[in-house]
Amino acid sequence: MSSFPRTIAIDGPAASGKSVLAEKLADALGYFYLDTGLMYRAVTNEALTRGIPISAQDAVTQLAETIEINVAPVNHHSVVTVNGRDVSNQLHRPEVDRNVSAVSAYAGVRKAMTQQQRRIAARGDVILAGRDIGTVVLPNADCKIFLTASVDARARRRMQDRLARGQKVTLEEMRQEILKRDELDSSRTVAPLRAADDAVILDNSDLTIDETVARVLDILRAAAWKAEMPS
Ligand code: C5P
Repeated sequence: MSSFPRTIAIDGPAASGKSVLAEKLADALGYFYLDTGLMYRAVTNEALTRGIPISAQDAVTQLAETIEINVAPVNHHSVVTVNGRDVSNQLHRPEVDRNVSAVSAYAGVRKAMTQQQRRIAARGDVILAGRDIGTVVLPNADCKIFLTASVDARARRRMQDRLARGQKVTLEEMRQEILKRDELDSSRTVAPLRAADDAVILDNSDLTIDETVARVLDILRAAAWKAEMPS
């Protein structure tokens, strides 16, 4: 009997649709889904809340090493707690968006988050989504997807998200924010955003969510089939 890959890495730029895809796949497969971006957002949010300047690398790193971040799925959503306090609804505020790339470029912050992510992934039957899952966190993942889309498509999606959250934004603001985040995430020295050499690259600019999920399920089936072939 064929079985799906037990560790699935999904990477890609901001607003490429990783989270919705991973949520739907996790549902379909009965897997645990970890959105690693939420962990970097939680560190950023905590620094902002405590008044730690984002530019204070040592203090932000120490914070990342000492707080306990927990991400748990509840009713199809990830509930994030920091030291037991639910911070889920603070993680997508504009201030966190503006500062998260700076925080996630700190080597010590990445090291602390990577350790926690590997621990979670060790249980198997997991989908981890982020920027460096296939390259750094889980280089031996059973299947790696790099999900991307045009800047325009991503800006439109991000704008719809924001409007749904009651935030007033323009398409041009979203374009600029996405371009800036792409630039920061791809140019940092530690674990930059990039597709692993063995990742399947999927551009979903012209695909609906359901079409994207169907494509990825096909990729996962093919990976399972390949794994069963005698070498
Ligand atoms: O995926 P999301 O947009 O929520 O991620 C927020 C930010 O966290 C990214 O722009 C990136 O700077 C950082 N991140 C990262 N590595 C990951 C996941 C997210 O650096 N694995």
